[in-house]
Amino acid sequence: MPNVILVTGGHGLVGKAIKHVIDTEPVGSRYGRKEGETWVFATSKEADLRDEAQTKALFEKYKPTHVIHLAALVGGLFMNMKYKLSFLRDNILINSNVLHTSYETHVDKVISCLSTCVFPANIDPPLVESKIHLGPPHESNFGYAHAKRLVDIANHAYKEEHGCNFTAAIPTNIFGPYDNFDLDDSHVIPGLIHKCYLAKKNGTPFTVAGTGNPLRQFVYSYDLAKMFIWQLREYDDVEPIIFSVGENEDISIRSVAEAIVKAIGFEGEVKFDTTKADGQYRKPASNEKLLSLIKAGGDPFVFTPFDSALNDTVKWFVENYDNART
Ligand code: NDP
Repeated sequence: MPNVILVTGGHGLVGKAIKHVIDTEPVGSRYGRKEGETWVFATSKEADLRDEAQTKALFEKYKPTHVIHLAALVGGLFMNMKYKLSFLRDNILINSNVLHTSYETHVDKVISCLSTCVFPANIDPPLVESKIHLGPPHESNFGYAHAKRLVDIANHAYKEEHGCNFTAAIPTNIFGPYDNFDLDDSHVIPGLIHKCYLAKKNGTPFTVAGTGNPLRQFVYSYDLAKMFIWQLREYDDVEPIIFSVGENEDISIRSVAEAIVKAIGFEGEVKFDTTKADGQYRKPASNEKLLSLIKAGGDPFVFTPFDSALNDTVKWFVENYDNART
């Protein structure tokens, strides 16, 4: 039987990136479509995955052999802090329905998506896969973080009790086309791109929250998509893998803002609002496991240079402003 790959959350930032890579890489190549494969990119309109019956109906309709499970209640810091129960409960329901329906319908493999916020808040750097459960996550988003941690627990339990091939990926901060560019509730790069775009349009200063000093690792969604496709085809272990650029390739928020200014062509004043909190200064995550495994199975992984990825994201945002999530 040919493979049917169901991507939940298929129209979000990462889902659209996987579709882009599958549609543009040469057929039969490492990251391209294989002959006979069917890819399904599901939306919440088609099935609200918090609901068991709708989840079962979605699986009944497409009969997936493989699932890349991206669907989640996702939000910026403000939403995570304000709606901890919603982030905990919605994500537990979504993950439980997707994993259990996958088990009941004999799906060959499920890859779920965690986040580096699952890691303990006070853990010695760098973050590595074996440290997930060694202490409580940061209190600002404990609802989301605990729901995501439970996926790793569930993956191990499904494997031990039923022999399921369920695993997970742990991306650092993702950016790219199709992101959520909302001004109040987005991640740092899409939020700053939108702010800088408006500052240019309105002739106002471009204000960045905080000192600009914190360092973060950013992974381009199109690079991340290749990692998921690789994991789908070449990785069969329950232990999760961090998907990121290297731990010493983190970039300051100030440098990100400068790159955005350049990409947008903004010539006005750039301000740093130091009354706003900075968050953790640095939380480096190691991509050693990922790189060694990809290299072992073929060519080493080549990351898109940050400036080039950022330029493409800004270009996409400007060209799609009327339809982008703002
Ligand atoms: P998006 O918000 O862009 O996409 C998430 C998708 O989940 C949405 O498209 C939405 O579908 C779908 N979804 C939400 N609730 C439901 C529901 N009840 N039923 C069905 N579908 C639902 O997020 P990303 O693409 O950024 O995130 C993908 C994964 O990556 C998530 O699991 C997230 O936790 C994780 N992640 C993201 C990071 C980031 O920086 N963005 C960092 C680390 C991890 P629809 O649009 O159809 O409503």
